[in-house]
Amino acid sequence: MATINQNYSKLNSSYLFADIAKRTKLFKENNPGVEVMRLGIGNTTEPLSPSVIQGLALGVHKLSEVTTYTGYGDEQGDARLRTALAVYYSQLGITLQPDEIFVSDGAKADSANISSIFGADNIVAVQDPVYPVYVDSNVIYGRSGPYTDGVYPGLRYLACTAENGFIPDVPREHVDIIYLCSPNNPTGAVATHSQLADFVAYAREHQAVLIFDAAYSSFITDPSLPRSIYEIEGAMECAIELNSFSKSAGFTGVRLGWCVVPMELVVQGTAKGEVNSVWNRRQTTMFNGASNIAQEGGLAVLTEQGQMECGLIVNYYMENARIILEGLQRLGLNVFGGVNAPYIWVKTQNRMSSWDFFEVLLEGAHVVCTPGVGFGRLGEGYVRLSAFGHRENVLQAVESITRNVRI
Ligand SMILES: *Cc1c(COP(=O)(O)O)cnc(C)c1O
Repeated sequence: MATINQNYSKLNSSYLFADIAKRTKLFKENNPGVEVMRLGIGNTTEPLSPSVIQGLALGVHKLSEVTTYTGYGDEQGDARLRTALAVYYSQLGITLQPDEIFVSDGAKADSANISSIFGADNIVAVQDPVYPVYVDSNVIYGRSGPYTDGVYPGLRYLACTAENGFIPDVPREHVDIIYLCSPNNPTGAVATHSQLADFVAYAREHQAVLIFDAAYSSFITDPSLPRSIYEIEGAMECAIELNSFSKSAGFTGVRLGWCVVPMELVVQGTAKGEVNSVWNRRQTTMFNGASNIAQEGGLAVLTEQGQMECGLIVNYYMENARIILEGLQRLGLNVFGGVNAPYIWVKTQNRMSSWDFFEVLLEGAHVVCTPGVGFGRLGEGYVRLSAFGHRENVLQAVESITRNVRI
């Protein structure tokens, strides 16, 4: 008889987004005619820029003629795109070869798949609160143990609190793999050069691997903040980087991302290049490459014109972030993030729970947020607001909060 992978039954069935939908629906039923405003969703809303549309259209057009038609491409990505990504890194002062960069259909899948190349006995550390994919993928790979009292005993949690500015200290104990997300989803915090240098030093000392998710790097406005882990000396030996066109170029529906596995990266018992070739083996075995149309779009994003146009859309979202941040600050709320990241992390008033504050915003201001507790134990007492949205909706939501919510 076939059996199921029992690790799936260990997953903490978080009903976060289903619960949000349920409560929102109930509110609408009880308050017919009231318009509900959404400030909770981590999804892009603004149309693609003209040169990116042109790139995608070129990708479509190429398929229409026998001389330019392509079928399967290289699993690792179009050589032109890998080269363009290497050029992108060179602008940050980072030298990577195209064969150290693997194009994918997005960073979510990469962040879930990447730890499959490491042994089942690795000890994994995650930030708390955390992007849930890092945790759940490791549960499925059998590294977690049973979910007990809101945590998995097999994982290590790095506390992100107001006291440490939501950037954790390096682990006090030994761990083998550390997931870091900066700029952070959900807290909007960004690690400084010296904070990342501490993690690189830890990883080198413990022969650990950092899995660095830079999906929001293009939202960094402060030029002193690192946009890539490889801006830190020594990171090539110990870090994998994930990134995506989703948030920087509005490709959430188009689907395109990449993963960097440097040749320098080594783990126990491997020589230089071996980790890279194991990931290559994983991808060539289980993945048939990103869409050729999406990759043509990605090439357009990486042109000078494309970068300029995508920057304008990022600025648009960051203006939304400023409006939310300043509106809530005027109200006297304690708010974090929102300056170099599209998320605003809001401390609830009077030690209210995340869900109680969710109700205050919904009942009082008709605004839907994301309860912080859905991202981990230490997210309790916070909610996440998102800067993704149309300007008029953001203005309306912030005005409604400032007019109707009493602190
Ligand atoms: C949105 C997001 C991504 C990007 O995922 P894609 O699959 O590329 O759309 C990656 N990491 C985090 C933390 C995100 O919030």
